[in-house]
Amino acid sequence: MDIIHLLPDSVANQIAAGEVIQRPASCLKELVENSLDAGAKRIEVILRDAGRTLLQVIDDGSGMSETDARMAFERHATSKISNASDLFNLHTMGFRGEALASIAAVAQIEMITRRESDETGTLLEISASRVTRQEPVQCATGTNFKIKNLFFNVPARRRFLKTNSTELRNLINEFYRIVLVNPDVSFLFVSDDEVLFDLPKSSLKQRIENVFSKSSRRGLASQLIDVHAETSIVTINGYIGKPEAAQKQAQEYFFVNGRYMRHPYFHKAVMTVYQDMLTHEQMPHYFIYFTISPELIDVNIHPTKTEIKFADEQMIWQILQAALKESLGKFNVTPSLMFDREGDIDIPSSVNAQNIKVDVPQVTINTQYNPFTEHRQRSESVAGWENLYDRRVTNEKIKEEKAYADMLFGGNESTAPLLNTANVSSTPCQYKERYIVLPMAEGMLFIDQHRAHASLLYAQIREQMQSGKCVMQQVLFPEVLDLSTDDAVLLLQMTDELHNAGFEITQIARNSFSVDAVPAELNNGNPLVVLLDILHAVTETGVSGVEAWNHRIALSVSEAAAIPAGKVLGENEMRDLVERISAAETVYTPDGKRIYALLPDEAIVKLFGK
Ligand code: ADP
Ligand code: MG
Repeated sequence: MDIIHLLPDSVANQIAAGEVIQRPASCLKELVENSLDAGAKRIEVILRDAGRTLLQVIDDGSGMSETDARMAFERHATSKISNASDLFNLHTMGFRGEALASIAAVAQIEMITRRESDETGTLLEISASRVTRQEPVQCATGTNFKIKNLFFNVPARRRFLKTNSTELRNLINEFYRIVLVNPDVSFLFVSDDEVLFDLPKSSLKQRIENVFSKSSRRGLASQLIDVHAETSIVTINGYIGKPEAAQKQAQEYFFVNGRYMRHPYFHKAVMTVYQDMLTHEQMPHYFIYFTISPELIDVNIHPTKTEIKFADEQMIWQILQAALKESLGKFNVTPSLMFDREGDIDIPSSVNAQNIKVDVPQVTINTQYNPFTEHRQRSESVAGWENLYDRRVTNEKIKEEKAYADMLFGGNESTAPLLNTANVSSTPCQYKERYIVLPMAEGMLFIDQHRAHASLLYAQIREQMQSGKCVMQQVLFPEVLDLSTDDAVLLLQMTDELHNAGFEITQIARNSFSVDAVPAELNNGNPLVVLLDILHAVTETGVSGVEAWNHRIALSVSEAAAIPAGKVLGENEMRDLVERISAAETVYTPDGKRIYALLPDEAIVKLFGK
């Protein structure tokens, strides 16, 4: 007997939905993108229970004919491409014809749609891929989608959804990514009868201002500098923050051809331009929009992925950097000398990109060179630290630093030497008020004073949190923390963990909180900065769960409380740090940064030759 058969469409669609529609936010993205593709000028989003009960999107776009309304829900039904070559010339957000079929498979849908040229519109009801009702209706031009009871027939998925506040935060983030690149469309966003955003059609700069007007970033637009570059391969427009507006938590957005994207490599390009102007903890705001011929980017964009591949990323890196430097230079915020010294290319807007010399510095790593081979055995315990804190090195800059140090010192994560200062009698001193330097038999030891102290504090705070022994310190004049809506939602979720770490926070208005007590370690630090740091880091890394939050809280508190770079240390303070870090048996901070490095004796001798 043959055993292979084709799956019924409803089952195939449900499987596809598992990929495309993971949560209410993905549903919102698909619907709003369809509205934009339909040329809508006004889009309203209405939510109930963070999209769980109802997710409604109303647009004034082209609408659909009676037949198309039916067709739209078929798998691979799309009006946007007809053959494979169209894939290389995409100008719409959607093209796979998968979204509606997927949503229909896992929800109950009511759709009303009418084209301007039609007298009557169409009402369609679908439940789990089956049309349950279809009839003509009187309605406005455009399309009105109601997605009800998302995942009602996939209990596993429904259970997998996070709390309403998490899902709402995801929805808001998705909404930001759309409205920040469509300023000529007006948007309304209502959640449980409360208007969270009412954004009229406006200039891009005004849109940025409107989006963040209710948050602590009010006035953001006045802190932005224009960026513009036009070359034959790419056009770059947008805004970057003045260095003085940099924050620990910045708004960072890249868009390409009207689509939000994440791009760690270009992010690094931005950071490099600012690196001499900001401390390593400050991040600049940026809203950067690339326009590029569709054939120069990877079209087969997975609906849930936001990374986009460009044909020539190094070239674009150069153009981007030149544009940013020009903008910062024009606004006289950086001394022009800086550019001369670096001998950077300056791209006048008319220059053909072909002529630009690409000169990306490369770090070569000599993997053979390892003066620490004799330490290998001992260093195996380093791995334990990693498991202990589940650190994730995401920051490109850290990786680069590490590669550089590893190249110099011949170590790498698994072979880095552990420190044994037990028999060292020499006196430590400070280099650049940032590193503690100690001559040892094996070479010259450098310890980053801030990182060393922060790591020790981290371990201590984690221990106290574990045993519920964090010391709380009341503040005399409680400060008020004004948050954006998404940050406020997150803060409320993390209240227990924050309290356990020593923060006492009271909600005084929807997005405002008073900070009444702080962990004792923070006696001089600004608690608002620390809290914002925690929220931002959690949002950025997308981590959730008690363990991840505790890690983040301890990390931010310890960083804020640790001895800063730039502080002059007494001999005893230095000795104490050296001893404790040596006992801690770890080379890296809980977030993966190198704490110390040994400039080996061999290297020093080599410097002088025979
Ligand atoms: P895709 O967007 O990839 O084409 P979808 O499943 O999202 O696939 O949508 C299928 C089709 O339904 C679209 O190609 C479009 O023709 C039509 N459609 C969907 N939403 C709308 C809308 N809001 N207004 C007009 N047409 C729409
Ligand atoms: Mg679509």
